[in-house]
Amino acid sequence: MLARLQSGAAFDVVIVGGGATGLGVAVDAAARGFSTLLVEAEDFAKGTSSRATKLVHGGVRYLAQGNVTLVREALRERRLFLDNAPHLAQPLPFVVPAYGLRGRLCELPFYAAGLAIYEMLSGSNRLGGVSLLGRRAALDAAPGLEPDGLVGGIRYWDGQFDDARFAVALARTAHREAAVALNYCRTVGFLYDGDRIEGVSIEDVETGHRYDVPCRCVINATGVWVDRLRHLDEPAATDLVAPSQGVHLVVDHECFPSTSAMLVPKTADGRVLFAVPWLGKVILGTTDTPRTDLPLEPRPFDAEVEFILAEAGRRLAVPLSRASVRSAWAGLRPLVKPAAGGGDTKRLSREHVVEVSPHGLVSVTGGKWTTYRSMAESVLAACFAHGLVPERPAGITRHLRLVGAPPPGSSLTPLSAPPGPHLYGTEAPVIATLPGAERMILPGFSEAMVRFAARHEAARTVEDVLARRSRWLLLDARLAAGAAGAVAAIMRDELGDRFDAAASAAAFVRLAESYLLPPS
Ligand SMILES: Cc1cc2nc3c(=O)[nH]c(=O)nc-3n(C[C@H](O)[C@H](O)[C@H](O)COP(=O)(O)OP(=O)(O)OC[C@H]3O[C@@H](n4cnc5c(N)ncnc54)[C@H](O)[C@@H]3O)c2cc1C
Repeated sequence: MLARLQSGAAFDVVIVGGGATGLGVAVDAAARGFSTLLVEAEDFAKGTSSRATKLVHGGVRYLAQGNVTLVREALRERRLFLDNAPHLAQPLPFVVPAYGLRGRLCELPFYAAGLAIYEMLSGSNRLGGVSLLGRRAALDAAPGLEPDGLVGGIRYWDGQFDDARFAVALARTAHREAAVALNYCRTVGFLYDGDRIEGVSIEDVETGHRYDVPCRCVINATGVWVDRLRHLDEPAATDLVAPSQGVHLVVDHECFPSTSAMLVPKTADGRVLFAVPWLGKVILGTTDTPRTDLPLEPRPFDAEVEFILAEAGRRLAVPLSRASVRSAWAGLRPLVKPAAGGGDTKRLSREHVVEVSPHGLVSVTGGKWTTYRSMAESVLAACFAHGLVPERPAGITRHLRLVGAPPPGSSLTPLSAPPGPHLYGTEAPVIATLPGAERMILPGFSEAMVRFAARHEAARTVEDVLARRSRWLLLDARLAAGAAGAVAAIMRDELGDRFDAAASAAAFVRLAESYLLPPS
């Protein structure tokens, strides 16, 4: 794909940013037949898009805020999201538990009514019914709930997915549709013809090599970093985003041994909180903390950790402490700034904005993973409206199955099934070496998967493999750190001498250590 840049080829559309938003636009533009280039400065989904709660949802919480349009659109997109990538996204039951007299008399009827409206808004796209559960049924549906004071609950359905793997599937789908999608390539400037943008200047982060790429249309899909790129084009532009940090803590399955997720609809600060079973562990979160510095690796604040442990702990039978946490990670939401005023990020819009600068730079930010596909359609509609590329009909991605999806109607092979040993070496598990020379297997993770990631999924570092092609960094940071050396050795075998195995493993171990909570 780099050779396409070296050849000096021009593109119809260049997309900057390889998260959910940019990758969605790349798939749509390429599927409509535009010659398309996407460049990501780090790895695909290194930013916010690997740090979501992993829900494909309409957003019960946005309904409570009265945002019916957003919920309705997201519920429609939820159906397409699950249909087009059943290997990466599935329906999941959620239980809302109710406690005490207040729970029985106020909360159960109130939330049952709200969730019935949620179901009604999903119309023919519904995933399952809403059921009122008695105390026993609630405990059966979500074993691990705190039984003391429990009076019952409500069950409803939403979707769940693997965000970083979904991003890689989008990159591969864009490639299948003839796009060039490159990670570790940063946009460092724009090329102008008079006062119109007519290309981008790109730096290959691994070699430092620069490419000037001519194009008709540049799309800035850089999430919370969108204003940095806008300011390269227009230094005086007013900011579009108000970033907000969300933290997740991952604990063992035994802390909440349930196949349903739990939703706490109202925490002490008026947010919702989830406990979601995911890849054999449980994700607890999240928070909503305004943040103006924009680190690539944001760290949770102590108050956020204590808040999640206290709020989740109130609803779970097993006591939680900092020692229960296997990994703690944070992401930055690109929330759209209100035109005036500011303040509470919980109330800022989850809808997206598309803005076209006087020089023709198309910037998009906001939204959520669930609506990435319809966001892409609105970005391309803005390009057409500004005459940047000639109009071509929308809708092609509604039923475009992603790379790896089984054909419609066929039965699913499990997501974790590794590629065949004949192609990718042995099925030997990857083994972590822990302090004290203790050795542990990473369940469901094999040498073949590392080779596949290096050969076909553009994995360039140990972190790419352990954080995003597999999700071990987010599931158990200590185990992931212990596997760094083994993964580096396999990658060196795949990538050859240019891959510095020791440096890549050491950098990953430092990162993984920062995902562990220090004692209070
Ligand atoms: C805590 C949390 C929980 C969430 N949970 C959910 C959920 O459950 N469901 C849901 O639907 N949504 C959820 N979201 C929202 C969703 O994750 C985001 O809306 C989405 O991931 C944003 O994607 P993006 O592509 O706009 O940004 P990003 O994923 O951040 O992508 C932007 C990319 O641009 C790259 N970049 C920056 N500058 C340059 C440059 N100069 N050149 C090249 N590349 C550059 C960055 O490296 C980055 O990878 C959640 C968000 C958070 C923070």
